[in-house]
Formats: sequence, C-alpha cells, structure tokens
Amino acid sequence: MKTYEIVIGLETHIQLNTTSKIFCSCKADSWGAEPNTNICPVCSGLPGVLPVLNVETVRKGALLAAAMHAEINPVSYFDRKNYFYPDLPKGYQITQFDEPIGKGGYMDLQMPDGTSRRVRIHKLHLEEDAGKTKIEDGERLVDFNRCGVPLVEMVTEPDLRSAEEAAQYLTQLRQLLRWIGVSEADMERGHLRCDANVSIREAGSTVLNTKTEIKNVNSIDAVRLAIIEESKRQIEAVEAGQRIQSYTLDWDADTGTLRKMRSKETEADYRYFREPDLLPVVLSAEEIAEVIASLPELPIERRARFIQDYQLSAYDADILTSERSLSDYYEESVRLFGGAAKVVSNWMMNDLSRLMNDTGKSAAELRLRPIDLAEIIRMVEGGKINPATGKSLLGKVEAGGGKPAEIVEREGLGLIADEDALSGQIAAIIAESPAEVESFRAGKESLLGWFVGQVMRRTGGKADPKRTRELLLEQLKR
Ligand SMILES: [Zn+2]
Repeated sequence: MKTYEIVIGLETHIQLNTTSKIFCSCKADSWGAEPNTNICPVCSGLPGVLPVLNVETVRKGALLAAAMHAEINPVSYFDRKNYFYPDLPKGYQITQFDEPIGKGGYMDLQMPDGTSRRVRIHKLHLEEDAGKTKIEDGERLVDFNRCGVPLVEMVTEPDLRSAEEAAQYLTQLRQLLRWIGVSEADMERGHLRCDANVSIREAGSTVLNTKTEIKNVNSIDAVRLAIIEESKRQIEAVEAGQRIQSYTLDWDADTGTLRKMRSKETEADYRYFREPDLLPVVLSAEEIAEVIASLPELPIERRARFIQDYQLSAYDADILTSERSLSDYYEESVRLFGGAAKVVSNWMMNDLSRLMNDTGKSAAELRLRPIDLAEIIRMVEGGKINPATGKSLLGKVEAGGGKPAEIVEREGLGLIADEDALSGQIAAIIAESPAEVESFRAGKESLLGWFVGQVMRRTGGKADPKRTRELLLEQLKR
C-alpha cells in the first residue's frame, strides 16, 4: 500500500466582539434572543436604508491582521457579493473582495511533540453575517438576528498536514483571538466557525488533488474527527480505483459521520462589485502604526520568553500562557515575590489552578491578587508558616478573609519564631524519651522523623520543620 499525505486548508468565520453590528446599531451578540427581535431596517434589508460602517470593526479587523503578521491595507473596500438565499434579505452580502483589510500573513503552529509548522493565510477580510433558516413542522423559518453581525473571514493556504495540526491551528487561533480581545471565540455560540477542505495525495507529491469541503463542524474535537474520517474515506476510495469527487459534506456530531450535502458546483458567479453606499476604508500611516503598537506580546512569543527567562518546562509554559490574564497573573506574582520564578509556577500550576477550578473563576476574576500570592509564598519560603497553612490561606483570602499576614496573625497560624521556646520544647521531648534517644545514638537515625513528629504534635504544627530538624540534631548528638 502507498503512503498518503493529507492536505488541509481551513476557512474560519470569526465573530468580532463589538457592541453593535457592522452597519447598524443593533446589538452584535443576540445569543439566546427570540428570533427576529434584534433587527432594524438596515440589517433586515428594507429598501431605502443606508449602511453606516462601525469603525470598531475596522480597528479589530486590523488588529487581528497585525496579530496574523498580515499587512494592514491602507485603503480597503467593501463589495457586494450577489446571491439569492432566504437568509440574505438584501439579495447580496456586504464583504471585501480584492482589496481586503489584511493581506498575506501566517501563523506558526507549535505542536505538542515539539515540531512546528508555518500556516500561510490566503485571505483575511471583514464582512457581515447572514441570517439563519431552519425547517420546523415542514415549514421553512427564517431568523434575521445574525444579519449584519461583524465577521472576519480568514482562510488558510492548504498548508496543514494532519487532523492534529488542524486542531492545533484552531486551538492557537482561539487563544489568539481572546488574547488580543477581538472575539470571545466560543465555538458553541458560533463566534468561531470552521469549514475544512481536505484532499489526499501520495507522500512526496506536490499536486493538489480534488478536495472535499466539510461544513458545520462546531468544536475542535469535531474538526479533528471529521478530517480523520474524511481522509480515511478518500484513501479507501483511491485504493479502490475511484476518483475523488468534489463534495460538500456535513458533519453529524451525534453519529460521528459525514453526510454528503451536495456535489459542489463550480464557483458561483457572485458578480462582485464595489458597494456604492460605503466609502473606501482609509487608514493613515499613523493609524496603522497605532494599531500595530497596541498589539500585545503574542502568546507564542510570551511562551518562548517564559521558557527562556523563567526556566519553565514547555508544559508549564503552555499552561501559564493559555490565557492572557493567567500569564499576566504569573508575571506579576513572580515580580512581587522576588525569588525563584519556578517556585511561583509550582504554586500556580497546583494550588492556584485548583482554586480557579473550585471557584469557576479566571485569574482576572480572583479576589486573591498576585500581591497576596507573593506574600503567601514569601511566608512559606521564609519559614514563617508551613506549606499546608500557605495552601489553606489561598482559600481564606479568596473567601474575603483579608490579607494573608492578617489572617496568620488573627488565627495564630505562624510558626514559633522564638528559637529559645522551640529549643525548650525539644529539650523536654528528649528528656522524656530516653529509650528513643539511646536507639538514635546507637545508629537508628530513622528515629529523627519520629522526634520531628513529637515536636509537631506538641507545638500544634507550628514549628518550622527545617529548623526543628537542625535543633533536634544538635541536641541529640550531644
Ligand atoms: Zn440592525
């Protein structure tokens, strides 16, 4: 049997998180609203109305272009894409055709196995969404709520080579969209929608064979599964001597199968022409420079810096840069703690992430701020409290108990700071345990643990374990 390579391109529609729609003042997000309650004469396409461009969509589209390393077009245009469909009340969609907001661009994938791949961007433009139709009791119903919702359509070149890479692209894209704050990127709510173009070829070949298009995949897992299914089907067909036909396939998440929707016709003639009701979108050199300057450090760059500067493992760096608020929280805590960055990452990966899970809050929403975490870590590292007390303080601060040091003071959680007092307790225990002292001095050094336990019991766990061992050794060896 020959070996095959899978060739994948992804087409994504990204809903920008602006307040209002792209050409009218209706709310952009009407998730959960009753059908046709978030519409106006503009977005429902009544005659005689004029679109007014929401400049926020231009700024967010340009910011996304910059984050994708694309060139921001100084003069872009809106065009009419003419086609007839019941969910498109105007009979055309306002989109961008030959002069879009962004040109070129790429994303570097960082695969979990350490390999990387550059995925080039073929197309990045602004457009309005269409409505939705559905069939209920034999009737076709239409909901215009989504008409005019601002989208960026972004299409990759066929640069992806496996279902895993396609899933990674979507994972990184979703992270990036949230990171730069242009979209909520919630796939279940349709903020990030994806179609996948899939073809196969013999390994080593450079031809692009006939592809099929998979539509309606609304989770990253579904994209992965659908691509695996479809590439298997194509390989079996080719092995059986059949030709691949250009289908559009519909992914059925319930059964995990692909259904043929229709044979793909040749590209429709959309008779694009410039939208006469809108001016060209002109961005001055200063405005473009401003957009680029407002771009935060990107997740992939921050991840590399965390590995380099803080000596984090790739795994820790992945988790700590999975969300911008979490990575900001980490850096702020490291700065305020002032000690080893690795100590802070251990606390974040274990105890803080447990607190976030338990409370269902993001790092930004926690009441426990980096200054509190840094203080707790400093107290533990400085031997003022024991690690278990430190861990319990996270929850107490989060529950509104006050500042960590106040809680320690109020609840008497501090370790015994008076060395003479601790020394006295140890001397008393030694005096009461002549048999154990004798065994220890005869070489049974494992008894040290037993002595530490006695000290802890007598002090209610408030002895510094490290100092206790030192003092015990001193007194036992006398
Ligand atoms: Zn409207």
